[in-house]
Amino acid sequence: MKRDRMYRYGQGLAAACLLLGMALPAAAQTRVVMLGTGTPVPDSHRAGQSVAVVHDDKAYVFDLGDGAIRNAIRASQDMGIEALSPTRIDRVFFTHLHSDHMLDYPALLNTYWWRRDHHVEVYGPPGIEAMSQGVYQMLAPDIAARKAGNQPISDPAGYRANTHAFRDNGVVLAENGVRISAFKVSHGEVKPAFGYRIETPDKTIVLSGDTAYDPHVAAQARDADILIHEAASQAGLSALPAQWQRYHHAAHTPSDAVARIANQARPDKLILVHNLFYGADEKSTLTEVRKDYEGDVVLANDLDVFE
Ligand SMILES: [Zn+2]
Ligand SMILES: [Zn+2]
Repeated sequence: MKRDRMYRYGQGLAAACLLLGMALPAAAQTRVVMLGTGTPVPDSHRAGQSVAVVHDDKAYVFDLGDGAIRNAIRASQDMGIEALSPTRIDRVFFTHLHSDHMLDYPALLNTYWWRRDHHVEVYGPPGIEAMSQGVYQMLAPDIAARKAGNQPISDPAGYRANTHAFRDNGVVLAENGVRISAFKVSHGEVKPAFGYRIETPDKTIVLSGDTAYDPHVAAQARDADILIHEAASQAGLSALPAQWQRYHHAAHTPSDAVARIANQARPDKLILVHNLFYGADEKSTLTEVRKDYEGDVVLANDLDVFE
């Protein structure tokens, strides 16, 4: 929903609540919580990629890079976003299966699994079932030991996920006023790789996932409130050896191309994540995008919340 419409909706809701003496339903407001803004490059301040969209006390989590579950625990315990408590996360969507997007999948299925009373639903490209089987294998000694003892277990299969793999564009989940669609993006040799469009009653959010410049992202984000896009620093990229430059150009979006996408889509807010700065100043990417794009743009940090 665009800002002016959202404002009118908010005003109407506030007036109705005032009239009826009710508190405003704050939980219904959609929030975007950054659980990981990093890349494969080790970074002490940034977990691997993970974005949570929280609507009506329910979290929809996109990717689970290393450290994402630790940040989810911080969000639930220190920031009061209870929907991000690990045993409550049961809607997970993968853009693709590069390690910086899935290393904390075992952490999600493993953490406190004996307290989980239902399975996690997992959506993503082919490969998510094999990845899940690998996690069960990894957990086998823990599962066997806990089941063999006197430990109470909510659901003996609570560590398992139901996987929903897909190869093409389309709606992957619609529930409780939330509609999530996947669309293909261009991530080098990774095929298919997906971005997601998330529509809730008060916001439309588009997540590029990892992608080279791809006009499909702009088309999906044309009426979005928030576009979350990956970005690569041109200053950093131009200093790399030629072979690395070729690799990154085929798989990632340099800052001038991010600005081009943003100028086509005109989102209310552009959020940069997965910032590949290759040893240049981390902020160079943001400065470069701002050169060609005058809209609202920020470089996200872990545990930033956007409403
Ligand atoms: Zn990737
Ligand atoms: Zn990545």
